[in-house]
Amino acid sequence: MSKNQQKEIHQLLEKPAKIVLVGHQNPDGDAIGSTLGLAIYLQQDGHQVQVIVPNDFPQFLKWLPQAENILIYESKTDDAKHFIADADILFILDFNATHRAGQVNEALNDFRGIKVMIDHHQQPSDYADLVISDTSMSSTCEMVYHFIGSKNPNAVNRDIATCLYLGIMTDTGSFKFSITTSTTHRVAAQLIEKGAPNTKIHQLVYDTNRLESLKLLGRALQNLKIVSHLNTAYIILSQEDLDACNYQKGDTEGIVNYALSLQDVVFAAIFIERKNEGLIKISLRSKSDFDVNLFSRNHFGGGGHKNAAGGKSDISLIETECHFLSVIEDYKNELT
Ligand code: 5GP
Ligand code: MN
Repeated sequence: MSKNQQKEIHQLLEKPAKIVLVGHQNPDGDAIGSTLGLAIYLQQDGHQVQVIVPNDFPQFLKWLPQAENILIYESKTDDAKHFIADADILFILDFNATHRAGQVNEALNDFRGIKVMIDHHQQPSDYADLVISDTSMSSTCEMVYHFIGSKNPNAVNRDIATCLYLGIMTDTGSFKFSITTSTTHRVAAQLIEKGAPNTKIHQLVYDTNRLESLKLLGRALQNLKIVSHLNTAYIILSQEDLDACNYQKGDTEGIVNYALSLQDVVFAAIFIERKNEGLIKISLRSKSDFDVNLFSRNHFGGGGHKNAAGGKSDISLIETECHFLSVIEDYKNELT
């Protein structure tokens, strides 16, 4: 299912406006890349812009152009509320239902201006007035590139190209997930031509580990379990594991992919205990046709894409593991 009101959105942007761009809770490369990339474009076009995210984002994204101007709702709530209430237009990028904005949810629901959504997740809600939704897209960054390109491809400068390249790279697992198309590669090539320093972006995101984050990966691999009759592997990280490795935001990003990298494994999960939030954060990944978006919606109150989804659990780690082990038995046909 897709919806494309890009013409109407360009019309809306013909007059200078106050615009707030919002990314989702626990912002990833695509959320930060798409909000910053579009914000820089809109700024060039004469608008007043402000990027707001619900909570802090990983260090490996902080070097992006204008990342220092992002307002973090959790720590600057009054300022952020003021920007939202005062805006003419609100862009929500890389998420499709307001609850994905965590604490910002309430301010989004109270907003009375024009709401625009650009997103590639499954089952979009009807929150926004104008929508570009396409679940076949690799990333919201790729969609933002097409959106800008449909008006003026020359507007994409080095800074915009850098932000958008980063989000495409992270959301496609460096161009390897099945959502990566020939068009994705063409867009990436054009972004490099427009100045995106591709090797440097890769290094700044993937080769800036702290020793402690690698030690956490070591623990995760020690904790990996395999359910061989269901071609499933999963990893558990307790609060104790995180504390022992001086956990910082972003340290667990991508660890679930090690479980999926096992031969014959088609379904992988990671369960991360977050005692201060009173929940277990879950990431689900699959190869082939096994739909983790549906699985998460059915059992772990989340969603996402067919091959990558998130979810949560508010029972204990051990109970969550038991629940997971019991429900996957019902998917024997799909998993084997
Ligand atoms: P991650 O496991 O990295 O948190 O999320 C994987 C993908 O699923 C990302 O695209 C993320 O935005 C999306 N996602 C994570 N949690 C949720 C959720 O609760 N609902 C929906 N609709 N998408 C989610
Ligand atoms: Mn995305």
